This record gives sequence, structure tokens and C-alpha cells, in this order.
Amino acid sequence: MRYSRMLIPTVKEVPADAEIPSHKLMVRAALIRKLASGTYTYLPLGFRCLQKVINIVREEMNRAGAQEILMPAVQPIELWRQTGRDVDYGETLGTFTDRHGRQNVLAPTAEEVVTNIAANEISSYKQLPMNIYQISFKFRDEFRPRFGVLRSREFIMKDSYSFHADDKCLDKTYKIMYDTYCRIFKRCGLDYVVVEAEVGEMGGSGSHQFTIPCESGEDTIVYTEDGSYAANLERAAVDPLPPSVIPSERSESRNLPKPEEVHTPNIGSIEAVCAFLKTRPGEMIKTLIYSAGDEVVAAIVRGDHDLNPEKFIQALGGKHAELADEAIIEKVTGAKVGFAGPMGIADKVSRMIIDHAVAAMAVGVTGANRTDYHTKNVVPGRDFRLDGDNITVADIRYAVDGDTHNGKNLLFKKGIEVGQVFKLGTKYSEKLGAKFLDEHGREKSCVMGCYGIGINRIVASAIEISRDDNGIIWPISIAPFEVLVTSVNQEEQKVARVAEDIYQQLLNKGVDILLDDRVLRGGVKFKDADLIGIPVTVTVGKKSVADGNIEIKLRAESKSKKVPIEKATDATIELVNSLKEKLKT
Ligand code: ATP
Ligand code: MG
Repeated sequence: MRYSRMLIPTVKEVPADAEIPSHKLMVRAALIRKLASGTYTYLPLGFRCLQKVINIVREEMNRAGAQEILMPAVQPIELWRQTGRDVDYGETLGTFTDRHGRQNVLAPTAEEVVTNIAANEISSYKQLPMNIYQISFKFRDEFRPRFGVLRSREFIMKDSYSFHADDKCLDKTYKIMYDTYCRIFKRCGLDYVVVEAEVGEMGGSGSHQFTIPCESGEDTIVYTEDGSYAANLERAAVDPLPPSVIPSERSESRNLPKPEEVHTPNIGSIEAVCAFLKTRPGEMIKTLIYSAGDEVVAAIVRGDHDLNPEKFIQALGGKHAELADEAIIEKVTGAKVGFAGPMGIADKVSRMIIDHAVAAMAVGVTGANRTDYHTKNVVPGRDFRLDGDNITVADIRYAVDGDTHNGKNLLFKKGIEVGQVFKLGTKYSEKLGAKFLDEHGREKSCVMGCYGIGINRIVASAIEISRDDNGIIWPISIAPFEVLVTSVNQEEQKVARVAEDIYQQLLNKGVDILLDDRVLRGGVKFKDADLIGIPVTVTVGKKSVADGNIEIKLRAESKSKKVPIEKATDATIELVNSLKEKLKT
């Protein structure tokens, strides 16, 4: 391709909403343009990157034995009602009513549709296992679209779904997909980390996320230094605090003063209570009242800890839970919102789930279940029960600095989730009737797995981790072009001819190449070259051509190499191949 004929409108200025490097560079290097909040047009360079990622993903999926299909982006809401996800997905689910009054979902993912296909097309164990995938647009009405294409409302996802006769077979495919993802990210030139993830409302029994560690990531990776454990923050399990501080095992707890109510007029928040009672959040006990279907559940965590909704949902056996509305809270606690406490609440709720760290507290301050009152000197285990039919002590909070896992210190770093694999089990197949007859003629529900990759996020995260002050440094596998030939003095016939020859020769050898044939100052061309970040550059300038040479340089390195004109093609191909070699799996 010729630069002079392409739409590559690079810019110096970035829009105010571009906060992170990849967003800024994608706009500056003319990869994308914003249409509206969370929706982007891919200009030619950006689209070429996307296509390269898609090709890698497709090659590896096919190699893994998955079959490509294409499902509609507009789905009838009835399917979503059958799984309950029309509610669980919340406002992120984009919907519209068509002219006949039918409600439709704009696909954020396709478990319902694909399971519907399986329900219709799979009848026998002989058809299993089956792994099908698509690469298509998804829509999610994200609350806060940001970071360019990293969190957009419309994006391209590769989503695959596998169907099995039993768990063992699912485990096999899950492993194959896990390995396939490793190959995909390696080929894309991404340094990734695999972390254990929570299944959340997807349901199912296991999940891993593929994450690119970097400052701009919205996810938090929690890991141990020796690498023996890595999980995302939603999942990261913490050790219970040392048993020695559990009050029931401490004789002096019996000697602690009795609970005492204190008047805290209009003081409901943890911060306000702490200021008023001159105590610290770590000495407070928070009581949160949740609605989980027909159940009311009390969650108890330490004042300085945050409830982890994913862990909480797991503790509830995967049941969807939301903070209860005011009326329920007032009914259960007998007090206005802000004054709930664990004392006496167990009998008023269906279940009470107490975080380990609360059980380990010697004494704390809690809401008094009486408007405008708190209670001091509350001893867990003495003043409210830590066991009982409807009482569970579990890990339901987010890990924090200082926590351990299997006795090892937990460390934290930011990352971008680029892909996730799930063992779904039979949640969808049961609800949507995806059944088969096994070899004994017995009817069973298909066991399922699902596997997603964000194509756009791969492009953006590659930029996050590979760039410098001047622009992008593409991994060769997903760069818009492999080689850039810059004709520095295009107005000089001889220079233009040498550049054109090298361009034609490389083109003939199948190299993906861009020729900068613009009649512009060299400085402008070099700036653009650095910005768009094509990995191998061949510079053809007046001076070196007069000496019979051109210069070859890697975008990632500062030094260039003089090469005789007649050897330019071979030397370039050698460099291209050496870069490709590094990304081989
Ligand atoms: P997140 O937690 O970041 O919202 P998710 O876990 O909901 O993502 P999945 O349902 O696992 O996303 O979707 C599979 C993949 O699709 C993700 O790993 C991610 O790469 C991509 N993806 C999800 N949401 C977006 C988005 N809003 N913009 C761009 N890519 C996305
Ligand atoms: Mg995910």
C-alpha cells in the first residue's frame, strides 16, 4: 500500500476523554475515531490490526478443532427470560422493542442462542463433544465506557461454546481451550498472566482469566511472589486471620465489658461513627442486608473491609443477591438504614454470613438495630453467634494488603482482562432444554463450557505494554504492516525509484508493506513512522542512496544499519523473519 493513497490522518492533539496511553495513541496514530460514547470506527490501520488478531484467533480455534458459525446480534428476549439473565445482566443489557412490539436483546454474549441451537440440533452422545465459535459484534450498555476500545459499548468478541456428555470431557476441552488461549496471546506478542476467576452469575464450576499486567488495567491481579497462586481480586481467597485472636479461644474475652449502647444521632456511616466515637474502621463491624430471591441475608464484614459480591454470591450457592431496599432493612433491623448490627439479627433473617475477619475480632463497635444508636464492646461469639443453622463464617471480603494465601503474602498489580474461559456445567442446557441420549438411551443435559476473547482489547493492550514517548511499537504479528519503506526525498527521482524497487520486491516476496511515498519533509515522515510503530523500517534517503546504501531499523531499537541497496530486500526479510520467530509457539 502507498501512504499517499491511504487514510492515515495522524494527529498531535488527543481528545480530552483519552486518559490512557493506548487510547491516546490509537487516536493519534489514526487507528480509530470515536463516533459516540463507547463506539469507534476503525480506520484502515486500525482495521488491519484487528484483522490480524482475528486471523490468529481463527487459526488457533480451527486448529483446536472448533467450528466457526455466525449467530444473530439481535436475539429474542424470551430466551433470556428462560435463563433469568434478562434480570441478572441488569442495565448492561441493551434491548429494543421492534415495530411488532417484540422485545429484543442486542447480543452481549450468546450462551442462550447457542444453547438453543444445541437444543434443536443435538440429540445423541455421538454428536458430542462439539465446540463452536463465532467472531462477531457484541453490545453492552456499559455504565462507564472509557479507555477507548478497552471498555467500549460495541466490540468484537470471539465467543466459543463447547458441549459435552460429562464433566470429564468438558475438562479435556477446557484444557485445550486454555492452551489455545496461551498460544493466541503468545502469537499476538502479549505478556499475559493466567489468573483464577470467579464464575459469578455466569454460573458453573471454574474459570480462568487471561490478563495483561499494566498500569491502565481495570482489573486487579492478586498473586504470591513465588507464582504459586494468582487470582483476580473478585476471586482471591485469603487465609482466615490467626486463630489466636478469635475471642472464643481467649479467656480474657469473658472479662471484656458488656455491650453498651451509645447515642449516635444521625451518625450512620463508618467514617462518621469513627470520628464520633474516636474509634477506627478496623474496630467496627458492618452489617449489610441483602435480598437474594425470597431470602433476606445479613452479611457481616469488618468496618475497614469491603464485601466482595462475587465471594458473597458463592457463599450463597451462586444465588443472585442485591442490597435490600430500605423497607426490608427497616423491617429486619427495626431501625433506619445505617444502624444495622449483628446482635439478634440471626433470627430475623434467612441467613447470616460472617466474614472470617469479623470472627477473628476481639471486640468491636456495631449498629444497635435501633435508630441513632450504636453498640460498643461487642464480642463476636459472645454477643452474637458464630455458628448455627443459618449462620456461616466464610471468606466474603476483598483481599487487602497484608493478607496471605496459604501462608504466603499476597501482592497486587493492575491488569487488563483480554480473555476468559468458563466451565458452565448444565446451567444453560437445563434451562433451555439442550439434552441428548447417552449410550444407554438415558436423557441427559449437555455439560457446557464457554470461552471469550476481546479482539479490540488485544489491540489496545498490545499498545499499553509496547510503546515509547514517540508512539506505538507493534509486535510484528498484529502490526498494521510488517515493513515501512520511507522514501525520505520522494521529490528526487533516484530516491523515489530505489524506494519503489525495494517496495515492489518485498511485495513480491509476500511481505506486508507500506511505502511512504508522500512528498513531505523527512522529519514529518519520521515522526509518523514512530507514531504508527511499524516494526521494521527501511529508510531510503538522498545521501545514503548516493553511497549505494539504504538504512534498516527496528522500531524497537534506536540504532539503524546501513545495507547496500542490492541487499536491502534480503536483509529486510531476514529481520522480519527473526521478529516472527520470537512469536512462534
Ligand atoms: P469486564 O469484566 O472487563 O467487564 P467481562 O468479564 O464482563 O469483562 P466477558 O463476558 O468475560 O467480559 O467477555 C469476554 C471478553 O470480551 C473479555 O475477556 C474482554 O476481553 C471482552 N470484553 C468484555 N467487555 C468488553 C467491553 N466493554 N469492551 C471491550 N471488550 C470487552
Ligand atoms: Mg470476563
